[in-house]
Amino acid sequence: MKIQEKVINEEDMDRTFLNDIKEASGSTEIDICIQCGTCSSSCPMAVYMDYTPRQIISMVKNGMRENVLKSFTPWLCASCYSCQVRCPMDINITDVMYAIKRKAVEKKTYPSRFAIPVMDKEMHKILTHNGRSSEVLLMLKLFLKTRNLIGLIKMAPLGLNLFKTGRIGLKKESIKNKKQLRQILKAVKEESQ
Ligand code: SF4
Ligand code: SF4
Repeated sequence: MKIQEKVINEEDMDRTFLNDIKEASGSTEIDICIQCGTCSSSCPMAVYMDYTPRQIISMVKNGMRENVLKSFTPWLCASCYSCQVRCPMDINITDVMYAIKRKAVEKKTYPSRFAIPVMDKEMHKILTHNGRSSEVLLMLKLFLKTRNLIGLIKMAPLGLNLFKTGRIGLKKESIKNKKQLRQILKAVKEESQ
């Protein structure tokens, strides 16, 4: 049975984490959370999360950097904004989830074999390289990187049907002017730094 950490010692709290997430999310009000739980009770995905949105906000406030950045919660967030529009303290909880995801990718601390971050990462790689997504390539990468060969075998009949009806193709999709795409991505990166 997996035992979740319930106690954190003061010396293990990372005092800079709250400011990092405030800066990355643009949510300056995180520390006024009153732990009312409205966000968790509004969240359609909370039942699947390892920490509820209320717990995540508390953990961010209390500098539990490692636990937060390794959590499945932000990857399960459906970006429905229910928590954010209902929070009585106007905390931008959805934006906090996005910020956590970005930090987790930056630090490579996301759950490494969990399909959602792996798919995000592989999709990003394909898009930045080719300018277009190729479904078959993406699916193959996803199943191989998550080491889910059984999942690949199970999905094969569906993939075959999609192929037969022309919904997916084996051809690698690509735009013509990749050089221009790289220039745009470079400019966006420089602008965001
Ligand atoms: S709804 Fe807002 S104030 Fe209430 S626990 Fe969630 S983040 Fe905190
Ligand atoms: S935005 Fe994410 S965390 Fe907030 S309620 Fe929706 S799924 Fe839950």
